[in-house]
Amino acid sequence: MNRGFSAEIRRIIVCTLLCVVFGLMNGYLTWTLIAGGALYMAWMLWQIHRLDVWLQNSRRFQPPDASGIWGDIFDNIVRLQKRQRREKKRLQAVVKRGQEITSALRDGILLLDTQGNIEWYNSAAGHLLHLRHQDQGNPIFNYIRHPLFIQYMDKGDFKEPLDLPSPHTGDVRLQYQITRFGQGECLVLVRDVTRLHKLEQMRKDFVGNVSHELRTPLTVIRGYVETLAMSPDLPAPWQRALQQMEQQGVRMTSLINDLLALSKLETDDRQSAHKPVVLKPLLQRIRSDAEALSGDHQHVITLNCPDHLALLGNEQELHSAFSNLVFNAVKYSPDGKQISIDVESNSLGLNLAVSDEGEGIDSVHLPRLTERFYRVDSSRHAQTGGTGLGLAIVKHVLIRHGAKLDIQSKLGKGSTFTCMFPIQSVVEQKDAASA
Ligand code: ADP
Repeated sequence: MNRGFSAEIRRIIVCTLLCVVFGLMNGYLTWTLIAGGALYMAWMLWQIHRLDVWLQNSRRFQPPDASGIWGDIFDNIVRLQKRQRREKKRLQAVVKRGQEITSALRDGILLLDTQGNIEWYNSAAGHLLHLRHQDQGNPIFNYIRHPLFIQYMDKGDFKEPLDLPSPHTGDVRLQYQITRFGQGECLVLVRDVTRLHKLEQMRKDFVGNVSHELRTPLTVIRGYVETLAMSPDLPAPWQRALQQMEQQGVRMTSLINDLLALSKLETDDRQSAHKPVVLKPLLQRIRSDAEALSGDHQHVITLNCPDHLALLGNEQELHSAFSNLVFNAVKYSPDGKQISIDVESNSLGLNLAVSDEGEGIDSVHLPRLTERFYRVDSSRHAQTGGTGLGLAIVKHVLIRHGAKLDIQSKLGKGSTFTCMFPIQSVVEQKDAASA
């Protein structure tokens, strides 16, 4: 038991004894005890009142003098207040330090509330987005009005960052990376990626220009090689050499064509032209080409596509993506195996699947398969004459059409490459005709 409490008990006992003695002396024991109790309660009420007054003004006044339990209560409250003040100071220092660190960052940070209004931002974000103090509390869309940003926020899929031109300075490129936290608030990281963007642009231009410049000399060389190869009185070793030169020339031409196609897809930021492309005739053409490619290997290619289905997109790009998938199925399947092209639509969109019974791909390769020049097996690659760019082209075409590529494969069993188009891209043929 603490000292204040035992002093209070002693005080009550002494008062009660005094009341008993006084009551016995005056002959009114009960009334004296009641009067003593009432006095004690009045004293207690007075102490509570003092405590209340002091709590209301505790910043200005020292705690009132008190003894017994009330002395302890006042002391404990003072101790608690001191601890609270120390803790508050420590937290303020932490917040200040956090603010200093975020101000020193070169990347912008914004906190958005659940409605998308700006709650707080650091100085880099203020500088990059030209924000002023009074902009706090306003919707972020007032400052970043780009339709792709609005679409990105509405979609709520923040796995990949979003690169956009700065809303204020045309040649500055900003990258937005959003993370959700708390009850649906968002943390937006804004980075100036102008330098990276320029380097990437230079790389794309370089690949495009070099491929373009190589085309003409290669055509000339191939022309001469073909003419030389046709000459009748060439010695046998020369004929073999010229044949190989011709083959390598064909390979280089397809490599350059693929590089040019990829560079065109990468450099053109605009979405693909949205015209209805009826799928069945397009896929029939691809099937005929694939049968010609298969030749003596006699693959059985089936096509299962409803007549009326059409996709909004660019016919040339779609042709290139689908033919890459079907030709790969031919290239990587043993002779006589079945290859099927299946198209189906549902309430979510349209799926175009190319399945084969080929050698399949080990699952470790699947995540990297659409990278440029990625090869599962370089010896197999040399045999098929592939460029290693086919699936990269497919990926880019699908991105430009808002679609995704899904790859399922089992070693020794075969593979299925599925292009998944969103419902907004799907049109019925009768609608397509009217469009
Ligand atoms: P390539 O020009 O070599 O075919 P791609 O980008 O089209 O380049 O394909 C990348 C790699 O993926 C290929 O080298 C091949 O190893 C593998 N691949 C693609 N399609 C298939 C398939 N249908 N079956 C097995 N492997 C495949």
